[in-house]
Amino acid sequence: MALCQAAHDRKLATGRAQILVLYELEPPGLAEAGAGHSDVVPVAVCKLERIAHADLLHALASGFDVIYLQACSAPQGQDLQRLEVDLVRTLGGLGRILLFNGAAGLDRRLAARLLPFPSVAPEVLAVGSRRDTARASAAALLPASTGHADLPDQAPYGSVSLDEGLCNTCSSCVWVCPSDALSLTENGGALSFVESLCTQCGLCVSVCPQRALSMTPGMDLTAYAVLPHLLTGEDGQTGGPAAAGGAGEVTAAEPDPCSEAGLPFADPVVSPVPETRHTGRA
Ligand code: SF4
Ligand code: SF4
Repeated sequence: MALCQAAHDRKLATGRAQILVLYELEPPGLAEAGAGHSDVVPVAVCKLERIAHADLLHALASGFDVIYLQACSAPQGQDLQRLEVDLVRTLGGLGRILLFNGAAGLDRRLAARLLPFPSVAPEVLAVGSRRDTARASAAALLPASTGHADLPDQAPYGSVSLDEGLCNTCSSCVWVCPSDALSLTENGGALSFVESLCTQCGLCVSVCPQRALSMTPGMDLTAYAVLPHLLTGEDGQTGGPAAAGGAGEVTAAEPDPCSEAGLPFADPVVSPVPETRHTGRA
């Protein structure tokens, strides 16, 4: 948080891009490359595979423009790291997080002049759980018109779909859900679902005697994600917050001209998270 705040402040003051370098074994030449360069922030970490997508997304949304992440050397760590990096790239960090092995070429890359991206004050995004932070950061990084991000298999975000014709409301899935993403409505006649709570663990799908449920990885970036809605259709979205007694319709956000692909970001600005996005504050 302190590193992001410092990078955010420095970018606002100087207009220069901020670079974060995360490593476990210091690459040779890093000290020389970063010497006297206040915009390069090298940070030693204990376990590279434990650097999670929520932290990386938060760093990119709230201060740093590019992250250089040292690649794990252990095969098991590589798989974990690849999943986390894939999530970051899909959720708005494409082209802004780069894995490196040795130090070859790192000094040249660190010396390159980059244009800064807009960033949000760190405390705006770091509220609620780490999942909330990841969602709010993704909403800040992706173009404002993006209401939904498709995610790779194994991603810990997504929705469940219900085949109403098969469901007998036995409530087995509700009892087994570890995160309270599923519940039965008061009269017990329908299933209610909160997307932001679902970790895609698959327990509900495996326990359902009717095979009525299926999972779809992804992330809803609208305020709708934190609201309970009825699972009344194949896509798991037809209920809607209004149908479940929620806060009503979610309106489409205006496209953010600063976030269009290919546009350089000449001026660092503080971009408030659009009101229709989930900001971690339900
Ligand atoms: S376990 Fe299957 S049949 Fe039972 S309530 Fe859940 S979806 Fe319906
Ligand atoms: S996939 Fe897991 S977290 Fe999501 S609704 Fe099913 S049991 Fe709950």
